[in-house]
Amino acid sequence: MDLSIIVPVYNEEESLEPLTHEIRSVLGPSGKSYEVIIVDDGSTDGTYVVLCRLRKTEPGIKVLRFKRNFGQTAAIAAGLAYAQGEIIVALDGDGQNDPEDIPALLEKLDEGFDLVNGWRSPRRDPFWSRQLPSLIANGVISWMTRVQLHDYGCTLKAIRREVAKELKLYGEMHRFIPAMAYERGARIAEIKVHHRPRQSGQSKYGIARTFRVILDLLTVKFLLSYATRPLHVFGLVGLISGGVGFLLGGYLTIQKIVYQYEIGGRPLLLLAVLLIFIGFQFITMGLLGEMLARTYHESQNKPIYVIKEILDGGTPG
Ligand code: UDP
Ligand code: MG
Repeated sequence: MDLSIIVPVYNEEESLEPLTHEIRSVLGPSGKSYEVIIVDDGSTDGTYVVLCRLRKTEPGIKVLRFKRNFGQTAAIAAGLAYAQGEIIVALDGDGQNDPEDIPALLEKLDEGFDLVNGWRSPRRDPFWSRQLPSLIANGVISWMTRVQLHDYGCTLKAIRREVAKELKLYGEMHRFIPAMAYERGARIAEIKVHHRPRQSGQSKYGIARTFRVILDLLTVKFLLSYATRPLHVFGLVGLISGGVGFLLGGYLTIQKIVYQYEIGGRPLLLLAVLLIFIGFQFITMGLLGEMLARTYHESQNKPIYVIKEILDGGTPG
């Protein structure tokens, strides 16, 4: 199998038929073998009925149906797990992404990349509620993950199988797929893709998504940078806090013992105690983190590195 197309859908009954036609008219002539994995994320409209019909008329359609709505990230994760193609392409089910862009993604991948992300330009969404939050989020994510992309929110992307199969997705982390792949050593590129206004159905997200994205970003940043050395973050904060607290405490002790000052009512005393306390807490938290990191890696035999290739000619003689 050359290609797996993954389409997460939640209540998109009207857009699926045109979308699958478009996919066929793009991929049919290419001569590539492909499958279209449509993940029905617990739709409550006629999506499932449409899918059952399409499965009989369109070639290569496979349907995964969730028991309830688990979210777009879960739908993409299910598609990734089920996919058999050497290259995996993800695509929105509402028709906002254009299947015509798939060949360009694949071409870029062939230039020697492991993941090519789409960049919706120009974007066809409302400005204040969608484009602006997204602009800010993209800037913050780029800056924090050091993966320079313009559009993390774009579902349309092509990924090599070996990279895709390693991804572990939680929360709403499908937008951090490039960042997670990059951390595993994947080469990332992006190309501009078409974006179309939504023709039918409704967007599944509101402004609240921005906050969830920021929280997920914290998780991703922490996991990417410090998962194998949690004491380096927590311990540093702990040392600074504890150290400052200790100095303040020492200063107060000298005032008390040498100069016989009354220190019982001084705010500084409270601060010193607080800082020392926090310092200890952070260091213990870091140590617990170290133990968790070991359990995490050793329980699943997950190495802390990724090998590209091994050149071993065997033993001479
Ligand atoms: N989607 C999904 N499960 C959800 C929410 C969305 O599978 O819980 C799908 C949805 O059907 C669409 C894609 O994810 O195919 C993107 O969602 P949407 O178009 O609502 O997002 P937007 O384009 O507005 O950012
Ligand atoms: Mg959409």
